[in-house]
Amino acid sequence: MIDKILIANRGEIALRILRAAKELGIATVAVHSTADANAMHVKLADESVCIGPPPARESYLNIPALLSACEITGADAVHPGYGFLSENARFAEILEEHGITFIGPKAEHIRLMGDKIEAKATAKRLGIPCVPGSQGAVSTEREALAAAEKIGYPVLVKAASGGGGRGMKVALDKQELVHAITSAQVEAKAAFGDDTVYLEKYLQKPRHIEIQIFGDGKGAAIHLGERDCSLQRRHQKVWEESPSPALNEAQRQEIGEICAKAMREMQYSGAGTIEFLYENGSFYFIEMNTRIQVEHPVTEAITGVDLVAEQIRVAAGSPLSLKQEEIRFYGHAIECRVNAEHHATFRPSPGRIAYYHPPGGVGVRVDSAAYQGYTIPPNYDSLIGKLIVHGRNRTEALMRLRRSLDEFIVDGVDTTLPLFRTLVRNADVQNGMYDIHWLEHFLATGGIEPVF
Ligand code: ADP
Repeated sequence: MIDKILIANRGEIALRILRAAKELGIATVAVHSTADANAMHVKLADESVCIGPPPARESYLNIPALLSACEITGADAVHPGYGFLSENARFAEILEEHGITFIGPKAEHIRLMGDKIEAKATAKRLGIPCVPGSQGAVSTEREALAAAEKIGYPVLVKAASGGGGRGMKVALDKQELVHAITSAQVEAKAAFGDDTVYLEKYLQKPRHIEIQIFGDGKGAAIHLGERDCSLQRRHQKVWEESPSPALNEAQRQEIGEICAKAMREMQYSGAGTIEFLYENGSFYFIEMNTRIQVEHPVTEAITGVDLVAEQIRVAAGSPLSLKQEEIRFYGHAIECRVNAEHHATFRPSPGRIAYYHPPGGVGVRVDSAAYQGYTIPPNYDSLIGKLIVHGRNRTEALMRLRRSLDEFIVDGVDTTLPLFRTLVRNADVQNGMYDIHWLEHFLATGGIEPVF
């Protein structure tokens, strides 16, 4: 039983969790920094607690302040959302030590998957196909050169503690590798406090395809199909869809079952995503995210499963509400991440939203914490909302997306809406013909003359 959930996050995901909790009849506590006193999640929660000044380090990442907020309000569970403390194993442990339920996987699994080298070794052991790479970490130039010789160039240097695309460097040959190792180590040390790096074969034209899984922590686990997140900028997802235009039903079932089986073996608990690169018909594991993801609504749209409600139920000790054979995939869904950034320069654009009109109608969902008169603070990431459309097939979803984007008005700040209006009209995007480099190339070659 969970009676009161403290939501250790902000923005659209805080609202998303609040909505699921309310529908389950569970009380909610919002926490916020002083920069977020007027945020929507604060207005809609049953109670709210200010946990510190604007810098995330002193508020949303401040574990003692969050524990005090639980204590003051009597919250018996914490949902971390994504980002912030969602993949901090120590946070999960501290909560459990205080008798508070962490709505997420077991701490040991968060820790295991947080180290990409360990994660890859585990995936391999569980029968998940992996990208060819070095046997664990490489620490010296000699080791790196020997490993790269075996893998074959080009190779990618990756940080064991990496995230958000940081600490990654491509090397086309020996000379480049020597330089890439040092710069990846420096970047990784600065970003994550850990300079452990490893090598992977650099795939030249892959798609990014990920599998949503769900476990009950006792050996039952299911998959909810895939999401194609190949449209990326700086290794960050921009547009996500399900099903992937590149997979057929047999491939979907095969990779989904491989993932679900691995999760059963691990006795994984809660929501998770197993990320792959996909090239020439083969899947290559890159990492596992042990949390709810930004793009989860496309899966919700085609399966009808409320993934956040399911996270809460499982954390409260309930079995999974659906068996694999009960999961049905219907139609096609697409999500666009709308950022408060200039659509061509991607310069962040915090400030006051003078006018706000979200789209509506059949098959349209907007997950956003924005409202007219709201001032977007400069302290956090620039995601201001997600537009999700669902149609009977990809063609209908694209038409629905096109008209929804045309309806969507956000005045007063720059947004990436014009980029999406251009993308939805692009022939390659319409045909589903893109890999993970397509968008960067499109932007670099002046593709982005916005429609309006
Ligand atoms: P992070 O945790 O930093 O996001 P990931 O391992 O998930 O790192 O990789 C992020 C993105 O980097 C992928 O979606 C893909 O675009 C690119 N990438 C990662 N590994 C490879 C690889 N071996 N070859 C080519 N691109 C890769």
